[in-house]
Amino acid sequence: MKIAIAGFGALGARLGVKLQAAGHEVTGIDGWPAHIAAINTNGLIVIHDNQAPKKYFVPVVTPQEVTGEFDLIILLTKTPQLDRMLTDIAPVVTKNTQLLVLSNGLGNIEVIEKHVARDQILAGVTLWTSTLAKPGEIHTTGSGSIKLQAIGHANAEPVVEAMNQAGLNVELTDDVLTAIWHKAGINSVLNPLSVLLDANIAEFGTAGNGMDLALTILDEIQKVGALQGIKVDIAAIMSDLTNLLKPENAGNHYPSMYQDIQNGKRTEIDFLNGYFSKIGHQEDVPTPLNTMITHLIHAKEDIERVK
Ligand code: NAD
Repeated sequence: MKIAIAGFGALGARLGVKLQAAGHEVTGIDGWPAHIAAINTNGLIVIHDNQAPKKYFVPVVTPQEVTGEFDLIILLTKTPQLDRMLTDIAPVVTKNTQLLVLSNGLGNIEVIEKHVARDQILAGVTLWTSTLAKPGEIHTTGSGSIKLQAIGHANAEPVVEAMNQAGLNVELTDDVLTAIWHKAGINSVLNPLSVLLDANIAEFGTAGNGMDLALTILDEIQKVGALQGIKVDIAAIMSDLTNLLKPENAGNHYPSMYQDIQNGKRTEIDFLNGYFSKIGHQEDVPTPLNTMITHLIHAKEDIERVK
């Protein structure tokens, strides 16, 4: 399959390498000059499970340079960057291109629908992870999985098959929205609270009222979800959160929002707590904690950017 990865950052590069190794024709699309230069000159360096570095040669071009047609474009920008990426790659998106979004957060499908027909859109959630250590180098651990669904009437099976040839552990679901909301619930607790409390995931777990905060955030999300016909299972999210606190799982990890703030970047807050706050305001469902958290993270973004 001819596949482009739009957003060849931490996670895009990890998936791209695996798809290329399985025999697919993979092109990375990215706009970070130092990262593109490093990969195209020396190859992408992958350090997996602290083993010896390996090099992979996946061609990476900018959205302005990309040409040709693709069967599949996997969208893996940060969520606030998605609309711009779709605008910039429009010349290579044909009616036959399927677009799979794996970025976190809510609202991605609505953004993609502004650019292509609903029947071209696939949406998923992924448990694959990756860290971009420096331009041209990613660090990865363990393995992951993906659940995806066609949003319109497209047949997603060829994509699932192609990705499974690459060992990506992809499963078709008929309820991807519930899975997306579930993951957004987890991220709406761990991401902003790690920033606001200056804590990794395990440290957050030592806060006496940490789980009460989590429950209040999730209770508001559940009420917003009910309006949209989405069942948010708070007990299941709390169970996942409790597991993630363990050091052998994600306990020693700082969530991506923490890293974005440290790097002076915009976060995905408007697509997590900010999304629930916005819909809550529109629909008259009180979301005071999600609203407050959204304001605080925006304040933190501003403070870190001018430091
Ligand atoms: P990242 O910032 O490392 O990668 C995004 C890449 O997109 C960057 O290299 C950036 O240069 C590029 N980009 C963005 N906008 C662009 C544009 N308009 N033109 C050209 N290039 C552009 O982010 P990531 O960590 O790979 O995460 C991507 C998404 O996947 C996020 O939504 C994240 O929450 C989600 N996610 C990440 C992980 C992880 O472990 N990294 C795990 C699960 C989900």
